[in-house]
Amino acid sequence: MITLTVAEIMDLAVFAGLTLNSRFNPTGDDLETEIDIQAAHPDGALDEDTGKRTKTRFVAVMTDYPEEGCMPLGPELPIAPVTREHEASAACWCGPEIDYVDPDTGATVYVHKQAQ
Ligand SMILES: [Zn+2]
Repeated sequence: MITLTVAEIMDLAVFAGLTLNSRFNPTGDDLETEIDIQAAHPDGALDEDTGKRTKTRFVAVMTDYPEEGCMPLGPELPIAPVTREHEASAACWCGPEIDYVDPDTGATVYVHKQAQ
């Protein structure tokens, strides 16, 4: 994690080639507001209003108000699907369907469902 002040972020923005409009920039104490930049959670960030998860490389958090949540930074990345092991029985978490029952041995072949 790295913590930058708004003043440092403004310098970084200029360094990155952005043009800042001084009419709308923070001033005074607002320049000292600190923002944490940290690696995003592997499962992404949950937007509690929409229920949507967004995964990015990094997120920004107001250092003094972490309870306010995080701002995903940059382009969205795909979230890896949750992989769960299936078990070879009708009790599997996915509720498998019976595909075939061997009439001699009674062995059952299940067709498992993918997680949604
Ligand atoms: Zn299964």
